[in-house]
Amino acid sequence: MGASTATTDPPAGDVGPPGADGLPSRGTLRSRIRDLSGAGPLLAVDIGGTKMEAGIVTGDGRVLDRARIATPGSTDPEKLFDALSSVVSEIVERATEQPIACGVGCGGPMEFGGRTVSPLNIHGWRRFPLRARLAALVGVPVAVDNDAKALAVGEGWVGAARGCDDYLAMVVSTGIGGGLVLDGRLLDGSGGNAGHVGHVVVEPEGRPCACGGRGCLEAEVSGTAIAAVTGRPAAEASPDVRRLCGTLVGRAVASVASLLDLQLAVVAGSVALGFGDEFFDAATEELRLRCGLDFARPTRIEPGGLGADGPLIGAAAVALLRQDGAATGGSDDAGHESDPGVSVVQGPDMREDGR
Ligand SMILES: [Zn+2]
Repeated sequence: MGASTATTDPPAGDVGPPGADGLPSRGTLRSRIRDLSGAGPLLAVDIGGTKMEAGIVTGDGRVLDRARIATPGSTDPEKLFDALSSVVSEIVERATEQPIACGVGCGGPMEFGGRTVSPLNIHGWRRFPLRARLAALVGVPVAVDNDAKALAVGEGWVGAARGCDDYLAMVVSTGIGGGLVLDGRLLDGSGGNAGHVGHVVVEPEGRPCACGGRGCLEAEVSGTAIAAVTGRPAAEASPDVRRLCGTLVGRAVASVASLLDLQLAVVAGSVALGFGDEFFDAATEELRLRCGLDFARPTRIEPGGLGADGPLIGAAAVALLRQDGAATGGSDDAGHESDPGVSVVQGPDMREDGR
């Protein structure tokens, strides 16, 4: 935004004129998610270590069709992309209406905006130029983000955080991921990795974590950790284990809520949702115990609202939020497409901070 724009209307979602209380309005997540409810469907892609899934999602957040394929164990990057291509092409060919944009949720880490991805659990992709390769395949703008951040946007779009502008969304499954929305903006951080709540320390002398630390939430509560400690799959965990996991999640949420002044923490993922009330009651109890500040005390912990559709709805939400950072079909596949800061598709209601 240069000075020359001063005479034009600010983009929707930008910090606007003072509200009734005289303070600048903050903008909302909903104002930043482009409303394409009538414009055509979205192609949504979720890429994980176990499966790759593609789907068609309507502009108002409903999954119309989906297909999945097991993620190949291959270390050949092209074999992995062939598998992804097959499932994406299958969905596009079946679609009765051509998708207008593509959003992707992928395991991290990645370069900002998914220019290249190096998912920890997909060993064949290291600095793989996912965004440009997909754009060349599908011929529509492609936006990529971390899968947990994608879920966070999806929960705010049509899930349990709908209408909320200050929240944490986390996934407790095989691992633990998270995404943060603050002041109606999805937080990125310097490298796009904001929200790694799995590495908040909840037991200072706890188990070693894959990150090199000790006692991280992920080292204590992930499905992998529970199986390692109990010798049984997380789905068979005892009530005591379910409550302990809830307590530790509540402890992590308490720190984040006090740090960031959150209204809500949405907790999704097979472990958390499978543990049910015992888990969520313990989490809320611990949150109450640990949050003493007046502003943090009302923070709530609620189960995710998107169920098995969460990853695809989240990916679609990324397409709506991130059109300014999307690669188009004209990009080459060597990672030379436009910088994320350069608008490929103009989206006046998208991110206005140039990232
Ligand atoms: Zn860790």
